[in-house]
Amino acid sequence: MLRTVQAILLTKQDMFQELELPSAAVEFTPTRQAGLARLEKFVSRTGQHYSRQRNYDFGTEQRGNVSVLSPWIRHRLITEEDVLHATLSHKSIFAAEKFIQEVFWRTYFKGWLEQRPSVWTTYQDGLARALNAGTRSSDYQDAIAGCTGIACFDHWAQELIQTGYLHNHARMWFASIWIFTLRLPWQLGADFFLRHLIDGDPASNTLSWRWVGGLHTKGKTYLARPDNIAKYTGGRFHPVGQLATVAEPLTEPFEHSRVPLPAIGPVPEGDVLLLVTEEDCQIETVLPHPPKAHLGVLAKQSLGVSPLVQSFAVGAIEASCGGLIDMGSAWSDQIVDAVSDAGTRTVVTGYAPVGSVADQLAALNLRGADITLHQVRRDYDTLAWPYATKGFFGLKKKIPHILRELGFAV
Ligand SMILES: Cc1cc2nc3c(=O)[nH]c(=O)nc-3n(C[C@H](O)[C@H](O)[C@H](O)COP(=O)(O)OP(=O)(O)OC[C@H]3O[C@@H](n4cnc5c(N)ncnc54)[C@H](O)[C@@H]3O)c2cc1C
Repeated sequence: MLRTVQAILLTKQDMFQELELPSAAVEFTPTRQAGLARLEKFVSRTGQHYSRQRNYDFGTEQRGNVSVLSPWIRHRLITEEDVLHATLSHKSIFAAEKFIQEVFWRTYFKGWLEQRPSVWTTYQDGLARALNAGTRSSDYQDAIAGCTGIACFDHWAQELIQTGYLHNHARMWFASIWIFTLRLPWQLGADFFLRHLIDGDPASNTLSWRWVGGLHTKGKTYLARPDNIAKYTGGRFHPVGQLATVAEPLTEPFEHSRVPLPAIGPVPEGDVLLLVTEEDCQIETVLPHPPKAHLGVLAKQSLGVSPLVQSFAVGAIEASCGGLIDMGSAWSDQIVDAVSDAGTRTVVTGYAPVGSVADQLAALNLRGADITLHQVRRDYDTLAWPYATKGFFGLKKKIPHILRELGFAV
Protein backbone atom coordinates (compact mmCIF):
# COMPACT_ATOMS: atom_id res chain seq x y z
CA MET A 1 0.00 0.00 0.00
CA LEU A 2 2.79 2.45 0.97
CA ARG A 3 4.68 1.59 -2.21
CA THR A 4 1.57 2.21 -4.31
CA VAL A 5 1.07 5.65 -2.80
CA GLN A 6 4.77 6.50 -3.22
CA ALA A 7 4.62 5.48 -6.86
CA ILE A 8 1.56 7.62 -7.34
CA LEU A 9 3.25 10.60 -5.68
CA LEU A 10 6.25 10.24 -7.96
CA THR A 11 3.96 10.28 -10.96
CA LYS A 12 2.39 13.44 -9.67
CA GLN A 13 5.79 15.14 -9.26
CA ASP A 14 6.81 14.17 -12.79
CA MET A 15 3.58 15.56 -14.08
CA PHE A 16 4.02 18.90 -12.38
CA GLN A 17 7.46 19.20 -14.00
CA GLU A 18 6.16 18.21 -17.40
CA LEU A 19 3.23 20.59 -17.26
CA GLU A 20 4.82 23.51 -15.39
CA LEU A 21 1.55 23.81 -13.56
CA PRO A 22 0.76 27.18 -12.07
CA SER A 23 0.53 26.86 -8.30
CA ALA A 24 -2.41 29.15 -7.66
CA ALA A 25 -6.14 28.58 -7.63
CA VAL A 26 -7.99 29.98 -10.64
CA GLU A 27 -9.67 33.30 -9.92
CA PHE A 28 -13.24 33.52 -11.14
CA THR A 29 -13.64 37.08 -12.35
CA PRO A 30 -16.97 37.39 -14.18
CA THR A 31 -15.83 39.25 -17.28
CA ARG A 32 -15.21 38.22 -20.88
CA GLN A 33 -11.64 39.51 -20.65
CA ALA A 34 -10.88 37.23 -17.69
CA GLY A 35 -12.36 34.23 -19.54
CA LEU A 36 -10.37 35.03 -22.69
CA ALA A 37 -7.19 35.43 -20.62
CA ARG A 38 -7.71 31.98 -19.07
CA LEU A 39 -8.41 30.55 -22.53
CA GLU A 40 -5.25 32.08 -23.95
CA LYS A 41 -3.22 30.66 -21.09
CA PHE A 42 -4.63 27.16 -21.57
CA VAL A 43 -4.91 26.84 -25.31
CA SER A 44 -1.41 25.44 -25.88
CA ARG A 45 -2.33 22.54 -23.55
CA THR A 46 -5.42 21.41 -25.45
CA GLY A 47 -3.53 18.65 -27.27
CA GLN A 48 -1.63 15.76 -25.70
CA HIS A 49 -1.26 17.46 -22.31
CA TYR A 50 -5.01 17.59 -21.95
CA SER A 51 -5.76 14.12 -23.31
CA ARG A 52 -3.15 12.51 -21.03
CA GLN A 53 -3.63 14.52 -17.85
CA ARG A 54 -7.22 15.70 -17.78
CA ASN A 55 -8.45 12.95 -15.47
CA TYR A 56 -6.09 13.90 -12.63
CA ASP A 57 -7.43 15.99 -9.80
CA PHE A 58 -4.44 17.40 -7.96
CA GLY A 59 -6.48 19.89 -5.92
CA THR A 60 -7.56 23.50 -6.07
CA GLU A 61 -4.07 24.93 -6.30
CA GLN A 62 -3.07 22.70 -9.23
CA ARG A 63 -5.49 23.11 -12.10
CA GLY A 64 -3.04 23.36 -15.03
CA ASN A 65 -4.23 20.11 -16.60
CA VAL A 66 -7.83 21.25 -17.24
CA SER A 67 -9.09 24.54 -18.62
CA VAL A 68 -11.38 25.60 -15.71
CA LEU A 69 -13.27 27.62 -18.32
CA SER A 70 -16.68 26.24 -17.35
CA PRO A 71 -17.96 29.27 -15.36
CA TRP A 72 -17.31 31.60 -18.31
CA ILE A 73 -18.71 29.14 -20.86
CA ARG A 74 -21.76 28.48 -18.69
CA HIS A 75 -22.77 32.13 -18.86
CA ARG A 76 -21.44 32.53 -22.36
CA LEU A 77 -19.06 35.25 -21.32
CA ILE A 78 -16.97 33.21 -23.68
CA THR A 79 -18.79 30.90 -26.05
CA GLU A 80 -18.12 27.35 -27.18
CA GLU A 81 -17.23 28.88 -30.56
CA ASP A 82 -14.63 31.16 -28.92
CA VAL A 83 -13.06 28.12 -27.29
CA LEU A 84 -13.11 26.08 -30.50
CA HIS A 85 -11.73 28.99 -32.51
CA ALA A 86 -8.79 29.49 -30.12
CA THR A 87 -8.15 25.75 -29.96
CA LEU A 88 -8.22 25.22 -33.71
CA SER A 89 -5.94 28.21 -34.23
CA HIS A 90 -3.28 26.36 -32.21
CA LYS A 91 -3.97 22.68 -32.89
CA SER A 92 -5.45 20.47 -35.54
CA ILE A 93 -8.83 18.83 -34.95
CA PHE A 94 -6.94 15.55 -34.45
CA ALA A 95 -4.40 16.92 -31.97
CA ALA A 96 -7.10 18.56 -29.84
CA GLU A 97 -9.70 15.84 -30.42
CA LYS A 98 -10.29 15.01 -26.75
CA PHE A 99 -10.62 18.63 -25.65
CA ILE A 100 -12.96 19.48 -28.54
CA GLN A 101 -15.10 16.46 -27.65
CA GLU A 102 -15.41 17.64 -24.06
CA VAL A 103 -16.67 21.02 -25.25
CA PHE A 104 -19.23 19.12 -27.34
CA TRP A 105 -20.29 17.09 -24.29
CA ARG A 106 -21.72 20.33 -22.97
CA THR A 107 -23.46 20.91 -26.31
CA TYR A 108 -24.78 17.36 -26.24
CA PHE A 109 -26.32 17.75 -22.79
CA LYS A 110 -27.88 21.11 -23.72
CA GLY A 111 -29.39 19.74 -26.93
CA TRP A 112 -30.54 16.50 -25.30
CA LEU A 113 -32.36 18.23 -22.42
CA GLU A 114 -33.88 20.73 -24.83
CA GLN A 115 -35.56 17.81 -26.59
CA ARG A 116 -36.59 16.08 -23.37
CA PRO A 117 -37.76 18.90 -21.09
CA SER A 118 -39.75 16.47 -18.92
CA VAL A 119 -36.42 15.36 -17.41
CA TRP A 120 -36.04 18.84 -15.90
CA THR A 121 -39.62 19.02 -14.61
CA THR A 122 -39.53 15.53 -13.11
CA TYR A 123 -36.17 16.38 -11.50
CA GLN A 124 -37.75 19.43 -9.91
CA ASP A 125 -40.76 17.41 -8.71
CA GLY A 126 -38.48 14.72 -7.30
CA LEU A 127 -36.34 17.38 -5.62
CA ALA A 128 -39.36 19.00 -4.00
CA ARG A 129 -40.44 15.60 -2.66
CA ALA A 130 -36.94 14.77 -1.40
CA LEU A 131 -36.61 18.19 0.24
CA ASN A 132 -39.92 17.72 2.02
CA ALA A 133 -39.05 14.23 3.13
CA GLY A 134 -35.43 14.24 4.06
CA THR A 135 -33.42 17.42 4.53
CA ARG A 136 -33.42 17.10 8.28
CA SER A 137 -31.93 13.62 8.10
CA SER A 138 -28.49 13.51 9.65
CA ASP A 139 -27.07 11.60 6.65
CA TYR A 140 -28.03 14.43 4.32
CA GLN A 141 -26.82 17.13 6.71
CA ASP A 142 -23.49 15.31 7.18
CA ALA A 143 -23.09 14.96 3.41
CA ILE A 144 -23.60 18.65 2.63
CA ALA A 145 -21.45 19.73 5.57
CA GLY A 146 -18.64 17.36 4.59
CA CYS A 147 -18.84 15.37 7.83
CA THR A 148 -19.44 11.80 6.63
CA GLY A 149 -16.07 10.42 7.76
CA ILE A 150 -15.15 9.55 4.13
CA ALA A 151 -12.17 11.91 3.82
CA CYS A 152 -12.25 12.41 0.04
CA PHE A 153 -16.00 13.03 -0.05
CA ASP A 154 -15.82 15.45 2.89
CA HIS A 155 -12.94 17.27 1.22
CA TRP A 156 -14.89 17.68 -2.05
CA ALA A 157 -17.99 18.93 -0.22
CA GLN A 158 -15.86 21.59 1.49
CA GLU A 159 -13.93 22.39 -1.67
CA LEU A 160 -17.16 22.89 -3.56
CA ILE A 161 -18.60 25.19 -0.90
CA GLN A 162 -15.41 27.21 -0.57
CA THR A 163 -14.35 27.52 -4.22
CA GLY A 164 -17.49 26.99 -6.32
CA TYR A 165 -15.68 24.46 -8.54
CA LEU A 166 -14.84 20.75 -8.61
CA HIS A 167 -12.75 18.79 -11.09
CA ASN A 168 -14.81 16.54 -13.39
CA HIS A 169 -13.49 13.33 -11.86
CA ALA A 170 -14.26 14.60 -8.33
CA ARG A 171 -17.82 15.37 -9.48
CA MET A 172 -18.17 11.80 -10.74
CA TRP A 173 -16.74 10.24 -7.57
CA PHE A 174 -18.81 12.55 -5.37
CA ALA A 175 -22.07 11.77 -7.19
CA SER A 176 -21.33 8.06 -7.14
CA ILE A 177 -20.58 8.01 -3.40
CA TRP A 178 -23.68 10.15 -2.74
CA ILE A 179 -25.95 7.74 -4.61
CA PHE A 180 -24.43 4.30 -4.00
CA THR A 181 -22.53 4.57 -0.70
CA LEU A 182 -24.57 7.13 1.22
CA ARG A 183 -27.78 6.08 -0.55
CA LEU A 184 -29.16 9.61 -0.66
CA PRO A 185 -31.64 10.77 -3.34
CA TRP A 186 -29.73 11.86 -6.44
CA GLN A 187 -31.95 14.95 -6.77
CA LEU A 188 -30.64 16.31 -3.43
CA GLY A 189 -27.06 15.86 -4.64
CA ALA A 190 -27.78 17.55 -7.97
CA ASP A 191 -29.40 20.42 -6.06
CA PHE A 192 -26.36 20.73 -3.75
CA PHE A 193 -24.15 21.01 -6.86
CA LEU A 194 -26.45 23.52 -8.57
CA ARG A 195 -26.45 25.75 -5.51
CA HIS A 196 -22.65 25.74 -5.18
CA LEU A 197 -21.11 25.28 -8.64
CA ILE A 198 -20.29 28.60 -10.30
CA ASP A 199 -20.73 26.74 -13.59
CA GLY A 200 -23.96 25.12 -12.31
CA ASP A 201 -26.00 24.25 -15.39
CA PRO A 202 -29.42 22.59 -15.58
CA ALA A 203 -28.42 20.34 -18.47
CA SER A 204 -24.83 19.32 -17.65
CA ASN A 205 -25.59 18.92 -13.97
CA THR A 206 -28.94 17.11 -14.08
CA LEU A 207 -27.90 14.79 -16.89
CA SER A 208 -24.49 14.00 -15.37
CA TRP A 209 -26.11 13.01 -12.08
CA ARG A 210 -28.55 10.86 -14.01
CA TRP A 211 -25.66 9.36 -15.99
CA VAL A 212 -23.82 8.38 -12.78
CA GLY A 213 -27.01 6.85 -11.37
CA GLY A 214 -27.79 4.82 -14.50
CA LEU A 215 -30.81 6.84 -15.63
CA HIS A 216 -29.28 8.59 -18.65
CA THR A 217 -27.67 5.58 -20.31
CA LYS A 218 -30.23 3.20 -18.92
CA GLY A 219 -28.72 0.56 -16.66
CA LYS A 220 -25.12 1.86 -16.97
CA THR A 221 -23.83 3.31 -13.70
CA TYR A 222 -20.58 4.85 -12.55
CA LEU A 223 -18.98 3.24 -9.48
CA ALA A 224 -16.27 5.20 -7.59
CA ARG A 225 -13.40 2.84 -6.72
CA PRO A 226 -10.71 3.44 -4.06
CA ASP A 227 -7.74 2.64 -6.35
CA ASN A 228 -9.05 4.86 -9.12
CA ILE A 229 -9.44 7.70 -6.61
CA ALA A 230 -5.90 7.13 -5.25
CA LYS A 231 -4.42 7.12 -8.74
CA TYR A 232 -6.19 10.18 -10.07
CA THR A 233 -5.86 12.31 -6.93
CA GLY A 234 -2.10 11.80 -6.98
CA GLY A 235 -2.34 9.72 -3.81
CA ARG A 236 -4.18 12.34 -1.76
CA PHE A 237 -7.04 9.93 -0.95
CA HIS A 238 -7.47 6.17 -0.83
CA PRO A 239 -10.83 5.31 0.77
CA VAL A 240 -10.29 1.55 1.04
CA GLY A 241 -13.22 -0.28 2.63
CA GLN A 242 -15.40 2.84 2.80
CA LEU A 243 -17.20 2.79 -0.54
CA ALA A 244 -20.02 0.73 -2.02
CA THR A 245 -18.68 -2.07 -4.18
CA VAL A 246 -21.76 -2.43 -6.37
CA ALA A 247 -23.80 0.22 -8.16
CA GLU A 248 -27.30 -1.01 -8.92
CA PRO A 249 -28.88 1.30 -11.51
CA LEU A 250 -31.58 3.68 -10.34
CA THR A 251 -34.92 3.38 -12.08
CA GLU A 252 -37.86 5.71 -12.64
CA PRO A 253 -41.46 4.99 -13.54
CA PHE A 254 -41.67 7.11 -16.70
CA GLU A 255 -40.27 7.48 -20.20
CA HIS A 256 -39.18 10.91 -21.38
CA SER A 257 -40.44 11.37 -24.90
CA ARG A 258 -38.62 13.61 -27.35
CA VAL A 259 -40.17 16.91 -28.38
CA PRO A 260 -39.15 18.97 -31.45
CA LEU A 261 -36.81 21.92 -30.96
CA PRO A 262 -38.80 25.16 -31.10
CA ALA A 263 -38.47 27.10 -34.36
CA ILE A 264 -37.03 30.58 -33.99
CA GLY A 265 -37.87 33.52 -36.30
CA PRO A 266 -35.65 36.42 -37.33
CA VAL A 267 -34.89 39.26 -34.90
CA PRO A 268 -37.57 41.95 -35.22
CA GLU A 269 -36.72 45.23 -36.99
CA GLY A 270 -36.71 48.51 -35.09
CA ASP A 271 -35.85 49.46 -31.53
CA VAL A 272 -35.57 46.67 -29.00
CA LEU A 273 -34.90 46.29 -25.31
CA LEU A 274 -32.24 43.62 -24.69
CA LEU A 275 -33.01 41.40 -21.72
CA VAL A 276 -29.71 39.95 -20.47
CA THR A 277 -29.93 36.75 -18.44
CA GLU A 278 -27.30 34.42 -17.03
CA GLU A 279 -27.86 32.07 -19.98
CA ASP A 280 -26.04 34.18 -22.55
CA CYS A 281 -24.21 37.30 -21.55
CA GLN A 282 -22.81 37.91 -25.05
CA ILE A 283 -26.00 37.62 -27.06
CA GLU A 284 -25.74 41.29 -28.06
CA THR A 285 -22.82 40.38 -30.33
CA VAL A 286 -25.11 38.39 -32.65
CA LEU A 287 -27.92 40.96 -32.88
CA PRO A 288 -28.28 42.60 -36.30
CA HIS A 289 -28.48 46.06 -34.72
CA PRO A 290 -27.62 47.49 -31.27
CA PRO A 291 -30.46 47.48 -28.73
CA LYS A 292 -32.03 50.74 -27.59
CA ALA A 293 -31.62 49.78 -23.94
CA HIS A 294 -30.61 46.89 -21.67
CA LEU A 295 -32.17 45.18 -18.68
CA GLY A 296 -30.38 42.56 -16.62
CA VAL A 297 -32.34 39.93 -14.67
CA LEU A 298 -31.19 37.03 -12.51
CA ALA A 299 -33.00 33.69 -12.16
CA LYS A 300 -30.40 31.92 -10.05
CA GLN A 301 -31.49 33.55 -6.82
CA SER A 302 -34.72 31.54 -6.95
CA LEU A 303 -32.63 28.38 -6.45
CA GLY A 304 -31.07 29.65 -3.22
CA VAL A 305 -27.57 29.58 -4.68
CA SER A 306 -24.41 30.34 -2.70
CA PRO A 307 -22.98 33.88 -2.55
CA LEU A 308 -20.10 32.77 -4.85
CA VAL A 309 -22.52 31.54 -7.50
CA GLN A 310 -24.76 34.58 -7.20
CA SER A 311 -21.95 37.10 -7.37
CA PHE A 312 -20.43 35.50 -10.50
CA ALA A 313 -23.82 35.47 -12.24
CA VAL A 314 -24.65 39.04 -11.19
CA GLY A 315 -21.17 40.21 -12.24
CA ALA A 316 -21.51 38.47 -15.61
CA ILE A 317 -24.86 40.10 -16.31
CA GLU A 318 -23.74 43.53 -15.11
CA ALA A 319 -20.56 43.38 -17.18
CA SER A 320 -22.67 42.59 -20.23
CA CYS A 321 -25.53 45.03 -19.88
CA GLY A 322 -23.64 47.90 -18.30
CA GLY A 323 -26.21 48.37 -15.59
CA LEU A 324 -27.22 47.19 -12.18
CA ILE A 325 -29.75 44.43 -11.89
CA ASP A 326 -32.84 45.18 -9.91
CA MET A 327 -33.21 41.98 -7.93
CA GLY A 328 -36.10 43.21 -5.84
CA SER A 329 -39.11 43.16 -8.12
CA ALA A 330 -40.71 40.57 -10.40
CA TRP A 331 -39.39 40.23 -13.95
CA SER A 332 -42.72 41.21 -15.52
CA ASP A 333 -42.79 44.52 -13.64
CA GLN A 334 -39.16 45.27 -14.48
CA ILE A 335 -39.74 44.56 -18.17
CA VAL A 336 -42.89 46.69 -18.36
CA ASP A 337 -41.02 49.62 -16.75
CA ALA A 338 -37.90 49.18 -18.89
CA VAL A 339 -39.74 49.02 -22.24
CA SER A 340 -41.71 52.09 -21.37
CA ASP A 341 -38.49 53.98 -20.44
CA ALA A 342 -36.90 52.83 -23.70
CA GLY A 343 -39.89 53.76 -25.84
CA THR A 344 -40.23 50.34 -27.49
CA ARG A 345 -42.61 47.39 -27.17
CA THR A 346 -40.15 44.74 -28.33
CA VAL A 347 -37.92 42.73 -26.02
CA VAL A 348 -35.21 40.40 -27.29
CA THR A 349 -33.23 37.96 -25.19
CA GLY A 350 -30.78 35.11 -25.69
CA TYR A 351 -32.55 31.79 -26.19
CA ALA A 352 -33.21 30.29 -22.78
CA PRO A 353 -32.62 26.54 -22.84
CA VAL A 354 -34.49 24.29 -20.40
CA GLY A 355 -33.77 25.57 -16.90
CA SER A 356 -34.77 28.25 -14.43
CA VAL A 357 -34.40 31.21 -16.83
CA ALA A 358 -36.74 29.49 -19.29
CA ASP A 359 -39.13 28.73 -16.41
CA GLN A 360 -39.19 32.39 -15.41
CA LEU A 361 -39.68 33.58 -19.00
CA ALA A 362 -42.57 31.14 -19.37
CA ALA A 363 -44.15 32.58 -16.23
CA LEU A 364 -43.95 36.21 -17.41
CA ASN A 365 -47.18 38.07 -17.28
CA LEU A 366 -46.99 40.65 -20.04
CA ARG A 367 -50.61 40.25 -21.10
CA GLY A 368 -52.27 43.54 -21.74
CA ALA A 369 -48.93 45.35 -21.89
CA ASP A 370 -48.65 44.88 -25.68
CA ILE A 371 -45.06 43.68 -25.44
CA THR A 372 -43.51 41.03 -27.66
CA LEU A 373 -40.67 38.88 -26.40
CA HIS A 374 -38.32 37.35 -28.96
CA GLN A 375 -35.62 34.78 -28.20
CA VAL A 376 -32.44 34.75 -30.28
CA ARG A 377 -30.79 31.37 -30.75
CA ARG A 378 -27.19 31.06 -31.83
CA ASP A 379 -26.36 29.23 -35.07
CA TYR A 380 -24.07 26.96 -33.05
CA ASP A 381 -27.00 25.62 -31.01
CA THR A 382 -29.33 25.41 -33.98
CA LEU A 383 -26.76 23.38 -35.92
CA ALA A 384 -25.61 21.05 -33.15
CA TRP A 385 -28.62 20.36 -30.94
CA PRO A 386 -30.59 18.29 -33.49
CA TYR A 387 -27.82 15.64 -33.30
CA ALA A 388 -28.22 15.26 -29.52
CA THR A 389 -31.06 12.79 -29.72
CA LYS A 390 -29.64 9.59 -28.22
CA GLY A 391 -26.10 8.90 -27.01
CA PHE A 392 -23.10 11.25 -27.34
CA PHE A 393 -21.74 9.24 -30.28
CA GLY A 394 -24.47 10.58 -32.59
CA LEU A 395 -23.23 14.14 -32.02
CA LYS A 396 -19.56 13.19 -31.82
CA LYS A 397 -19.46 11.83 -35.36
CA LYS A 398 -20.99 15.08 -36.63
CA ILE A 399 -18.37 17.34 -35.00
CA PRO A 400 -16.30 17.88 -38.20
CA HIS A 401 -19.50 18.62 -40.16
CA ILE A 402 -20.75 21.10 -37.55
CA LEU A 403 -17.36 22.83 -37.44
CA ARG A 404 -17.30 23.16 -41.23
CA GLU A 405 -20.85 24.56 -41.25
CA LEU A 406 -19.69 27.14 -38.73
CA GLY A 407 -16.89 28.18 -41.07
CA PHE A 408 -13.94 26.37 -39.51
CA ALA A 409 -11.40 25.01 -42.01
CA VAL A 410 -11.22 21.43 -40.75
C1 LIG B 1 -22.11 14.98 -11.42
C2 LIG B 1 -21.61 16.00 -12.40
C3 LIG B 1 -22.14 17.28 -12.43
C4 LIG B 1 -21.70 18.22 -13.35
N1 LIG B 1 -22.27 19.48 -13.35
C5 LIG B 1 -21.87 20.39 -14.26
C6 LIG B 1 -22.45 21.69 -14.29
O1 LIG B 1 -23.35 22.01 -13.52
N2 LIG B 1 -21.97 22.59 -15.21
C7 LIG B 1 -20.99 22.26 -16.09
O2 LIG B 1 -20.58 23.12 -16.91
N3 LIG B 1 -20.45 21.03 -16.12
C8 LIG B 1 -20.84 20.09 -15.22
N4 LIG B 1 -20.27 18.85 -15.23
C9 LIG B 1 -19.33 18.50 -16.31
C10 LIG B 1 -17.84 18.74 -16.02
O3 LIG B 1 -17.51 18.20 -14.78
C11 LIG B 1 -17.44 20.22 -16.04
O4 LIG B 1 -17.92 20.85 -17.20
C12 LIG B 1 -15.91 20.37 -16.02
O5 LIG B 1 -15.38 19.72 -14.90
C13 LIG B 1 -15.54 21.84 -15.99
O6 LIG B 1 -14.16 21.98 -15.80
P1 LIG B 1 -13.23 22.53 -16.94
O7 LIG B 1 -13.76 23.81 -17.45
O8 LIG B 1 -11.83 22.55 -16.43
O9 LIG B 1 -13.36 21.40 -18.04
P2 LIG B 1 -12.40 20.96 -19.28
O10 LIG B 1 -12.03 19.57 -19.01
O11 LIG B 1 -11.28 21.94 -19.40
O12 LIG B 1 -13.37 21.01 -20.50
C14 LIG B 1 -13.61 22.20 -21.28
C15 LIG B 1 -15.09 22.52 -21.29
O13 LIG B 1 -15.83 21.46 -21.86
C16 LIG B 1 -17.08 21.30 -21.16
N5 LIG B 1 -17.07 19.97 -20.50
C17 LIG B 1 -15.99 19.27 -20.10
N6 LIG B 1 -16.36 18.08 -19.59
C18 LIG B 1 -17.70 18.04 -19.65
C19 LIG B 1 -18.68 17.07 -19.28
N7 LIG B 1 -18.35 15.89 -18.76
N8 LIG B 1 -19.97 17.39 -19.45
C20 LIG B 1 -20.35 18.56 -19.99
N9 LIG B 1 -19.46 19.50 -20.38
C21 LIG B 1 -18.16 19.25 -20.22
C22 LIG B 1 -17.16 22.41 -20.14
O14 LIG B 1 -17.85 23.50 -20.69
C23 LIG B 1 -15.69 22.73 -19.91
O15 LIG B 1 -15.47 24.04 -19.44
C24 LIG B 1 -20.69 17.87 -14.29
C25 LIG B 1 -20.14 16.59 -14.27
C26 LIG B 1 -20.59 15.66 -13.32
C27 LIG B 1 -19.96 14.29 -13.32
